[in-house]
Amino acid sequence: SEQNKNAVTADYQALDASHHLHPFTNTGALNKKGARIITHGEGVYLWDSEGQKILDGMAGLWCVNMGYGRQELVEASYEQMKKLPFYNTFFQTTHMPAAELAQEIASVTPEGLDHIFFANSGSEAVDTIIRMVRQYWAIKGKPYKNIIISRENAYHGSTVGGASLGGMSGMHKQGAPGVGGIERIRQPYWYGEAGDMSEEEFGIACAQALEEKILAVGPDNVACFIGEPIQGAGGVIVPPANYWGEIQKICQKYDILVAADEVICGFGRTGSWFGSQTFDIKPDIMSMAKGLSSGYLPISAVAVGERISSALIEHDDDFNHGFTYSGHPAAAAVALKNIQLMKEENIVDYVANDIGPYFQQKLREALADHPLTGHIEGTGLVAGIALVKDKEKKEFFPSDLDIGYICREHCFNNGLIMRAVGSRMVLSPPLVITHAEVDELCEKARLCFDLTL
Ligand code: PLP
Repeated sequence: SEQNKNAVTADYQALDASHHLHPFTNTGALNKKGARIITHGEGVYLWDSEGQKILDGMAGLWCVNMGYGRQELVEASYEQMKKLPFYNTFFQTTHMPAAELAQEIASVTPEGLDHIFFANSGSEAVDTIIRMVRQYWAIKGKPYKNIIISRENAYHGSTVGGASLGGMSGMHKQGAPGVGGIERIRQPYWYGEAGDMSEEEFGIACAQALEEKILAVGPDNVACFIGEPIQGAGGVIVPPANYWGEIQKICQKYDILVAADEVICGFGRTGSWFGSQTFDIKPDIMSMAKGLSSGYLPISAVAVGERISSALIEHDDDFNHGFTYSGHPAAAAVALKNIQLMKEENIVDYVANDIGPYFQQKLREALADHPLTGHIEGTGLVAGIALVKDKEKKEFFPSDLDIGYICREHCFNNGLIMRAVGSRMVLSPPLVITHAEVDELCEKARLCFDLTL
């Protein structure tokens, strides 16, 4: 209650309410109850201004992969800022961190994705994909081949481009037209949308939807298909095992580029450097952000395969796209150190062969038999749980009840950050989480599911 808040909390909540408009938030409602003030972090834990310790089951926003309080990352930033806090990579100049980071990223991307374009956020990386694939086809003499196909319930960011591409309904509420030339097909959400189909049948049906769309708009008008290997913000939707292979074949048949949006799946989350490797996707182009710097500074990148990069390089003209802070030296230095640390600590292997399987198993032991749990899906250190009203009948909760929000609040009040996406609960803890911390996370999650009942 108000009376029990300490003075720091009360002061900062009032300050925040007076001037801060929050993203993705009903700010009016938030101002009435007061935002929780996060003060510091260490490892997988955060602390708030009331002194409560919180296990961060979301790694910030799917990004603090190497955990909080990593002095190596802090120092990389500090040292670079002392030397050169900023210089641009436009107009004939570069700097050491950008050149080194591009090489370091290319050392972990799938084969052939060897050229790197820098931006600052996942949304900007996605915008870069939109502009770059259209530029590619224009260079090839087919400027009309510019339609980009994405999926319902996909999340590709919040810039006008990224939001236009995404398929989460809330992102299209603002009414005005977005970027043109975008088409969407169904998402491969087997548990929620497959009816009586097996996973395999459903995987084929969802891929066929792509072929139908391509034929409807004309193959020669389609530039690219884009998808997240696992849909993250849409609720952690893991596609059927055969889905991506089928998508790949269809794109090849009609000469359509494949783009993987790796903003969440990239940098170890699924037990490989990229989700594309986990699902055997062969992208022509890939966006990445978040885990690239473990969120310590904003930086994103697009890895560009040989087909597109050689066209751009040989074209002998400017690619008129970029950001002042593309390849920002301090952000690049942090990302470089972050990837080096991931390699030194074998973190991808840890996720693939140790903590990832442990997390998936413990989560199922803790929650699979819970009356609220309809289905658990996930791989590596990412998971989504469908909450249901009736498990046997597979009856979902009415959306106005906002069951996910209720569950999230119980977690929030009991020292666990878990995110709700409609009636799905999602988890994406830091990759450095220990076995004991996974146990604690699962115990807390069970308690919060009990409280939600
Ligand atoms: N693409 C995907 C798959 C994402 O999950 C996100 C953010 O969650 C974005 C793009 C946008 O990234 P940002 O919020 O850094 O602009």
